[in-house]
Amino acid sequence: MSRFLSDRYKDLEPYVPGEQPQDQQYVKLNTNESPFPPPPAAIAKASQAAERLQLYSDPDCRVLSEKLAEMLSAQCAGAGAAAEAPAFTRENVIITNGSDEVLNFAFMAYCSSEKPAVFPDITYGFYPVFADMNGVPYREIPLDEDLRIDPAGYIGAGGTIFIANPNAHTGIALSRDQIEEIIRGNPDDLVVVDEAYVDFGAETCLPLLEKYDNLLIIQTFSKSRSLAGARLGFGVASAEIIRDLNTIRNSTNPYNINAMTQAAGLGVLEEEEMIRRNCESVIANRRYTQERLNAMGFALTDSSANFIFMKHPQVDGGQIYEEMKRRGVLIRHFTKPRMAQYNRVTIGSREQMDVFLKVLGEVIEELK
Ligand code: PMP
Repeated sequence: MSRFLSDRYKDLEPYVPGEQPQDQQYVKLNTNESPFPPPPAAIAKASQAAERLQLYSDPDCRVLSEKLAEMLSAQCAGAGAAAEAPAFTRENVIITNGSDEVLNFAFMAYCSSEKPAVFPDITYGFYPVFADMNGVPYREIPLDEDLRIDPAGYIGAGGTIFIANPNAHTGIALSRDQIEEIIRGNPDDLVVVDEAYVDFGAETCLPLLEKYDNLLIIQTFSKSRSLAGARLGFGVASAEIIRDLNTIRNSTNPYNINAMTQAAGLGVLEEEEMIRRNCESVIANRRYTQERLNAMGFALTDSSANFIFMKHPQVDGGQIYEEMKRRGVLIRHFTKPRMAQYNRVTIGSREQMDVFLKVLGEVIEELK
């Protein structure tokens, strides 16, 4: 730390992202990326956009946000809310540099010393960092014994609520009705639903935007849409909330989405059918992996995400992580209490999962 650093940041403990090793080829199952490359249309559009990089990108992401609003409206109608499906327009959408950016904007806009952030004790590790970074207090509500969120614990929570659904790192999803209970139980507070992993089997809360103005939904192109490296996320909410968030965006970095990423995002939206098939394939591989892990004696949470959260009754989670890494398979280990026995494993291709299962079998035999 230099002697110039502001007191505000002296104690800040930054978020530690999962390893992105550049030195060795790993079977990489540690950061919940898609095993599938971006659709060809996304690659073609991004490279065309590269030819005009002398110009600034569109700060309003006009074309992308219009297409996204159309796609979300269609998704909402498909989610069984046809009669009350809100027709989203670009006024309801903010596009950001990964969903991390819109999450940070939400902490900046809607949390303060009077309005603490409220989230589960086990969830996305960036939430407490965003709170600290913005100098706002936060309250963690413990997951129950089965590592589930109990919606009853969030009624009248007295702050801005952040719920990842499915939750990180358990992958367990609440139903839309359960989230609605939380939204209804906090009419004067904003509920932020982080749907980073929603496309792998959970219910989206998009249809609830028709009924509630205290809801902000966050999604990303990083997981189901194969664009983690492009950094593209978005928030969906009332036009008023989107205006708040745009005030913050325009006061920090109006050109937050580069031209290649905007183009790649458009390409992905043209290939929704391919994305849907990719998600189905991840879901099938998740089931395949879960069955084999159960047979090996692992305890698993009921994941609706593109990862599983597993622990072995006899072998230490940290040791499993280390041994797997030594053998070229990278998974994610967290040392926080209640999580230290677990490992989180991204669901990759069938071939990747077969390598993972084979190496894991050897490691368990050796360590138990
Ligand atoms: N929310 C959750 C729950 C996540 O796990 C992640 C990925 N680390 C994000 C948001 C952020 O993803 P991105 O910034 O790539 O959109």
